[in-house]
Amino acid sequence: MKDEKQISYILNELGEEGFAFSPVSVPIYETSIFSFQSFAEFKQALQCERTAHLYTRGNNPTVEVVEKKLAALEGGEKAKLFAAGVAAIAAATMAFLQSGDHVVCVRDCYSWTTTLFTRYLKRFQVDVTYIEGKTLVEWEAAMRPNTKLFYLESPTTFSFQLQDLRAVAQLAKAHKIKTVIDNSWATPYFQNPIEFGIDLVVHSCSKYISGHSDVVGGVVVGSEADIDHIFATEFLNIGAAPGPFESWLLLRGLRTLAVRLRQHQQNTAEVVNFLADHPQIEAVYYPFHHSHPQYDLAQRQMRGGSGLLSFTLKTRELEEIARFTDALQHIRRAVSWGGYESLIVPAAVVSSQDPERINFVRLHVGLESPELIIDDLAQALDQIG
Ligand SMILES: *Cc1c(COP(=O)(O)O)cnc(C)c1O
Repeated sequence: MKDEKQISYILNELGEEGFAFSPVSVPIYETSIFSFQSFAEFKQALQCERTAHLYTRGNNPTVEVVEKKLAALEGGEKAKLFAAGVAAIAAATMAFLQSGDHVVCVRDCYSWTTTLFTRYLKRFQVDVTYIEGKTLVEWEAAMRPNTKLFYLESPTTFSFQLQDLRAVAQLAKAHKIKTVIDNSWATPYFQNPIEFGIDLVVHSCSKYISGHSDVVGGVVVGSEADIDHIFATEFLNIGAAPGPFESWLLLRGLRTLAVRLRQHQQNTAEVVNFLADHPQIEAVYYPFHHSHPQYDLAQRQMRGGSGLLSFTLKTRELEEIARFTDALQHIRRAVSWGGYESLIVPAAVVSSQDPERINFVRLHVGLESPELIIDDLAQALDQIG
C-alpha cells in the first residue's frame, strides 16, 4: 500500500522525465507514425513492435506515461491503455480464453461485460456461470474442470455487492484459473486488488481516472508477461488503441485523482446519511455505510469509498418515480459517473431492467457542495408520498 507522498509522486512526476525542454505538462504526440534514421533501426523496430515507437496503434509516448502511472498506482508491473473500458475488459478476458473454456462471473457486473460473455463469447463456445460471489462456497460450486477465468467486480456498480478478493484469488491460484477484476468503482486510490493476489485489474478510465466526463478510455494492469500476452494477442489485432489527446486528458485528470476522491468520499458520506434517514427511502446500498451487510469486508479491502451508490424508493409507482426524477434541478439525468457532476439513473428508465428492481435509483454524488445535492434530493423527494 502506498502513502500519500508516493501517490503524489506517481500522479505528478512518474514517467514525465526526459521530454525535450522539460515541460511541466506532458507533450501530446499527435502522430500516427514514427520514422527511423537507418535500415538497421527500422528493421529492429519491426522485429519488436511491443517496445518500439513505430505506429500509434502499438505505442505512443503520451499514452505510455499514463500506462506507467496506472501500473504504479495499482502495484502492477505493466499496464496497457485502451480506447474504452469495454475494450480493456474484452482484451483482458479473451486473451486467456479458447473455445471449450468456462468462465465464472459475478452476476451483477457491468452490463456490457455480461453481454461479452453471454452473447459474444458464446459464439466461440465459451460457457459462463453467473454467481452472486459473496461466499467462497459459491465460487467452488461453480468451478468446472474447464474453468479458465474468474471475473470479479467489487463492489458491483448497481447493487454494490463485494467479493472477498484474497479468498477468491487464493482459490483461483490453486486451480490455475486467471482472475480479472473491474476496479472502476474503488479506483487505484482506494483499492489495489493485485495486493490480494488478483492477476489483472481493469478500469473504465471514462469514470474517476478521467474525472471530468470528457474521455472514453480503459486500462488493463497486471504482470509484464500477462500484459505482453494481451498486447500480442488482442491489442494489436483488435485495434482499440487510445488516442494521444485522450491520453493527455487522462494525465490532466490523474493530477487531481486523490483530492477528487477524498471529496467524493466526504460528500457521499453526507448524502448517504441524509438518504438513510429519509422517510421516502426504503434502503441505501453503499459499502461504507454501516447498514451494508459487507461493511466489515469493505473496510478490510478498501481504504475508502467513492461517490456511486444506489437507493430504493418506498414507492414502486412508475408515475411517482418519474415525478421524483423530473423534479431534480441540479442532479442531472444521465448515464455514467465519475465526473464533477452529480448524476441519477432510475432503474425504471432501463427497459431491460428486472421489474423487481423498479424502485432502484443509482446516484453519482459529484463534487458540488453537499448541501446543494441534499437540498435537490430533498425537494424532489417531497414531490412523492
Ligand atoms: C462504464 C463502465 C465500464 C465500461 O467502460 P467504457 O469506458 O464505457 O467502455 C466498465 N465497467 C464499469 C463498472 C463501468 O461503470
